Amino acid sequence: MRTRFPVPNLHVFTFHVSLLLCLLVTAALPVAASSSPPADSPPYGPDLRERICAPDPTYNLKEGEILVPVFVYHFVGRETLERNGHSVSRFNVTAADFEAQLALLQALGYHPVTVGEIAAALDGKATLPERPVALTFDDGWREQYDVAFPILQRYGMRATFFISTSFVGYPRFMTWEELAEMRDAGMEIASHGRKHINLADADDPDAWREIARSRETLEEKLGVSAVSFAYPFGGYRRGLPAMLERAGYQIAVGLGSSPVVRPGGRYYLRRIEVRGQDTLTAFLNRLPWRGMGTPLCVPEPRERIREEQ
Ligand SMILES: [Zn+2]
Repeated sequence: MRTRFPVPNLHVFTFHVSLLLCLLVTAALPVAASSSPPADSPPYGPDLRERICAPDPTYNLKEGEILVPVFVYHFVGRETLERNGHSVSRFNVTAADFEAQLALLQALGYHPVTVGEIAAALDGKATLPERPVALTFDDGWREQYDVAFPILQRYGMRATFFISTSFVGYPRFMTWEELAEMRDAGMEIASHGRKHINLADADDPDAWREIARSRETLEEKLGVSAVSFAYPFGGYRRGLPAMLERAGYQIAVGLGSSPVVRPGGRYYLRRIEVRGQDTLTAFLNRLPWRGMGTPLCVPEPRERIREEQ
């Protein structure tokens, strides 16, 4: 039976065959401290301050567009993909790096929202908080419960977990009980299809089964009416948005590099991949808002005196 399930490396490799060209710069600066940063010290080294306090990138938003970076993670803290505390896989972010990323988001004043909340905002039914960010996790790997979930809770942050419903309960994957616990903690549990097939290659009846039955299963097992869907392998073709809408989904996510959410793109939100070897600087470079205007970037005392004179 286990051979029916994707071998992690093969799975993620295939997943990213169709992946975007990631144009963002990965600077060669070291990753920040590996332990949980105390609240009274900044969650980064002095080398990052200059970049944190650089001006924000500019985006020329058109009417109805929302600025909200949506990140995607696969494995967090998978020990077999780490050596000497560092990730050896693009698809595995170490627990320490993940925590440093959350600490940075918190220090920069970001407010995590779920993908479902982005749908509500696009419909004008909800207003997103200042500096929204969405953290998403794919496939239902068990480290997401064991490692990522406790760290998210420690930072009071919510996230969206896209689950391939046929994998639930199998070795290496989360169980329904664990998913229920995350649901109760405010996490969004959403659909990643049933068997993780590429819907770009599936005929309509197969695609419909993946889309509709996975939603029914989430309803049946968790009492969740899923509004969000993630395309397995990022696979997309015409006709899928109409099926998703008919099945009851309000939004869907794929892959990309832009933090701009367009109303017309609600059935293919672009998600930015967080890679295992990314430095904290690389993560920072993907954020639309930096530290200007936050307590992190108050002028040095001497600069303040000069300004006041
Ligand atoms: Zn997947």
